Amino acid sequence: MKLIGGSLWDSDVQYLKNVGPRRGYLLKKMGISTVGDMLYHFPRDYDNRSDYKPGGYVSGEKATVRGVVAGLEEKKPRKGLTITRAFIHSGMERLVAVWFNQPFIRKQVTVGVSILVTGKVTSFHNELQIQVADYEIEDGKEMINSGRIVPIYPLTGGINQRLLRLIIKSALDEWGHRLPEFIPSEMLARFVLPETGPALHAIHFPDSLDEIRMARRRFIYEELFIHQLMVALMRKRSRVEKKKHVYPPADQMEKYFLSMLPFILTQGQTGAWEEIKKDMGGPYPMNRLLQGDVGSGKTVVCVLAMIRAVSGGFQAALMAPTEILAEQHYLNIKGYFEALGVQVGLITGGMKKKARKDLLLKIAAGETGVVVGTHALIQGDVQFNRLALAVIDEQHRFGVRQRALLRDKGHNPDMLVTTATPIPRTLAMTVYGDLDVSTIRGLPPGRKPVKTFVCSKSQSGMVYREIKKEVTLGRQGYIVCPLVEESEKVDLQAAVELREFLSSGPLAGCVVDILHGRMRPEEKESAMGRFRDGEVDVLVSTTVIEVGVDVPNAAIMAVVDAERFGLAQLHQLRGRVGRGAVPARCYLISDSRGEESAYRLEAMRTISDGFVLAEKDLELRGPGEMHGTRQSGDILYRIADPVRDLRTLEVAAREARRLVDDDPEFKKAENVNLAWEIKKRFSGLGFFSIG
Ligand code: ADP
Ligand code: MG
Repeated sequence: MKLIGGSLWDSDVQYLKNVGPRRGYLLKKMGISTVGDMLYHFPRDYDNRSDYKPGGYVSGEKATVRGVVAGLEEKKPRKGLTITRAFIHSGMERLVAVWFNQPFIRKQVTVGVSILVTGKVTSFHNELQIQVADYEIEDGKEMINSGRIVPIYPLTGGINQRLLRLIIKSALDEWGHRLPEFIPSEMLARFVLPETGPALHAIHFPDSLDEIRMARRRFIYEELFIHQLMVALMRKRSRVEKKKHVYPPADQMEKYFLSMLPFILTQGQTGAWEEIKKDMGGPYPMNRLLQGDVGSGKTVVCVLAMIRAVSGGFQAALMAPTEILAEQHYLNIKGYFEALGVQVGLITGGMKKKARKDLLLKIAAGETGVVVGTHALIQGDVQFNRLALAVIDEQHRFGVRQRALLRDKGHNPDMLVTTATPIPRTLAMTVYGDLDVSTIRGLPPGRKPVKTFVCSKSQSGMVYREIKKEVTLGRQGYIVCPLVEESEKVDLQAAVELREFLSSGPLAGCVVDILHGRMRPEEKESAMGRFRDGEVDVLVSTTVIEVGVDVPNAAIMAVVDAERFGLAQLHQLRGRVGRGAVPARCYLISDSRGEESAYRLEAMRTISDGFVLAEKDLELRGPGEMHGTRQSGDILYRIADPVRDLRTLEVAAREARRLVDDDPEFKKAENVNLAWEIKKRFSGLGFFSIG
């Protein structure tokens, strides 16, 4: 059965019974725009109100009472307080049901009606009372507020539980019987999952706890399966078209480059490079994520891939999220490539017009073999002659769209993206599901973990003395100030003042400089340059140094108001020190008493492995929040939790890949509804066109 006409994913919620424009507006504010959103607004909890008894109520306990209303009264003992009392015969007992400040109750509850009330029982002046939390009048319709297992929803202002139950009940009545099943029936049978219609009814208005469990299983699977189908489709698409470029087998340039390096590759680096080399040699474009802890040496692996590209006479691009990082890469790799006879160009937002124009011409002519840059790389006027490899450093800072834009600068170029925020293998599969993953394990030899201390603001003086000691030994340090948004003036001011305070006080005699996101590009570059060259001893900085910055002589770091940073961010920041052979220290300064921040700082103090910290981070924040994927609209889990539901996730991924391999166009009869469903649900994202 294929649904003709409107689907629940494009029917406006406001036209549902009991909604209308005003409530529709309130619902949309909480992200419920369509009937589908409404039906998939699942309860956060349930209250079992099905076990009502005729008597034996215990004072102080919650109960549900069913009975007939024998009388009613209203009292106004003082201004602003209205008490409505209903006398109820439950069969064995007489009780008084009490409502506070709900005068409208009298319109609904009248003498003679049969009612169920749920609330706390108290004994008061020899009278058994029940303070009504919720009630339902028996009028022959299906009960939704009492007398059963009742759903408790996440709420928004202006809409309460009773109203939401009513709206969802009418949505189910209107739509429930005409929802097509879209998961292939063979799959439902194999995993013993209920069908859409019954499952939706069961998750909202279940008859038993077992029904809830079964319905939840279905929707968790459904959500993960559909997401994995998207991922599998993207992956497939990147695998159907062969790439045009073929790299020559000779690796003379690679050998020469390796001989120029002042170190030998670690096992992790060699392993990752082998995997990349294999991909590059294959007929289809590479789509690979290179992950490795901060300082594990990802750059050199990227350079090897770029050398491979230029050795065949092709071009390679390297995109980095900040100007500081782009420039650092440029300075790092320029010498090597020039020794190999390859021109390198740097393209950033702050470039002079003339210089930019000249560079663009050379890139378009293919004269510049390697182009390093920021977002400036993906602007419309940047044209490559024969781009064969696109590398994105710290790709979690970019959206999927930017990745796609860079890819479009070439004809099916090989793509290599890196991240220093390692995430567990299976999660990588969901977040970057269309990518293969290489992991550099371990750090280059000789690195010692950064010794981390947590201290209060009153101990700052001691911290600054330690920094000064390091400087006298010829080393450098960072002092990081929080700046949540680069536009937050207050924070900026704090950083400027801190620098002044330090250079005239605790760090007098040291060269203290400042670096923040509001400085002009050339100011940033020169500040970074002076620090890199050792002219500056201590850099007071905002988080602009967070990713990638590599100055091995920096051996000490202090983070001010450390509680304002997330765990992943703190780990990134700390990764700026301990990059050389010198033992390094990191002081996290915080006066916060919050439980969560204490947990985070303690994790930082005791754990140095980025993989372990990433797992802690997931526990704390939930995977939806990592890497800003929530904003980019890639992942939005309503009911599934990739960490908790890891096993289901694995199954869903396997099934999705199998289905896409077997029927890539979703042409088979059993997959037609699935194509339709995906198209409807994701139309706004414009991922692909099928169905
Ligand atoms: P990240 O993985 O964080 O991007 P980088 O590529 O910036 O790390 O490397 C961190 C530092 O380690 C750099 O100074 C780099 O020169 C150095 N490095 C990289 N590989 C090795 C190695 N095999 N042995 C010693 N030092 C290395
Ligand atoms: Mg890096």
